[in-house]
Amino acid sequence: MTDHTQVLSGSWRFRARSLTDTLLNFLFPPVCANCKKVGALVCADCAAQISWVVEPLCERCGRPLSHSAPHCYACTQRPFPLQQVRTAVFFEDPIQTLIHKLKYSNTFALASALAAFMLQAWPDWASPINCIIPIPLHEKRYKERGYNQSERLAHYLSHERHIWMDTHSLQRTRHTQPQVHLNAVERQSNVAGAFSVTDTDIVNKHILLIDDVFTTGATLSAAADVLLTAGAATVSGYCLARAK
Ligand SMILES: [Zn+2]
Ligand SMILES: [Zn+2]
Repeated sequence: MTDHTQVLSGSWRFRARSLTDTLLNFLFPPVCANCKKVGALVCADCAAQISWVVEPLCERCGRPLSHSAPHCYACTQRPFPLQQVRTAVFFEDPIQTLIHKLKYSNTFALASALAAFMLQAWPDWASPINCIIPIPLHEKRYKERGYNQSERLAHYLSHERHIWMDTHSLQRTRHTQPQVHLNAVERQSNVAGAFSVTDTDIVNKHILLIDDVFTTGATLSAAADVLLTAGAATVSGYCLARAK
């Protein structure tokens, strides 16, 4: 199947789901996933509380800077396989609560609402990107949850930006423990060797990895390492939220 037909078939599924969402919204008006006010999945009051990531940023990892140097201290000290990383908003409420709901409430519409924030802050460097890959879950976790929240975000971005989404070439072949309580070094060893590339579709592609939360960059780096080794031209990353 060509890139073009994959985008088209994805588009039909997307439209069918949008129609279903519209009908459901009519029958059951949405309530704000954060404050329960009736009217929208993320109400205007909650949206106004979102803390956006704004420049100046480290050109490489996207960390907010208080000075005008091109890179943050960490990026001058470490190898970082990603060309660039950007994040749309900070991981604090209401986004923190909304991401928790996205992970555990199985709501397609909430993924679209959150991905719309990513689209609003879409970085202009992303134009040469020709392949979007959501960070995969391990099969075990995918079966527990029933879906991959990063894939839901990526699906929306792929559709809106007309960029092919690849969900098969990058696989999470090792189950890793949750990273919430791990420090930067522990996170790095936790995800080392967690990913593998199982298809040549990514060869010479300019890839944009999509994930929900960016903390130390360990997960994106581990995925980028295997993609570059397998022949990807460049790998960048775009995450919904950045931990402070
Ligand atoms: Zn609200
Ligand atoms: Zn940096």
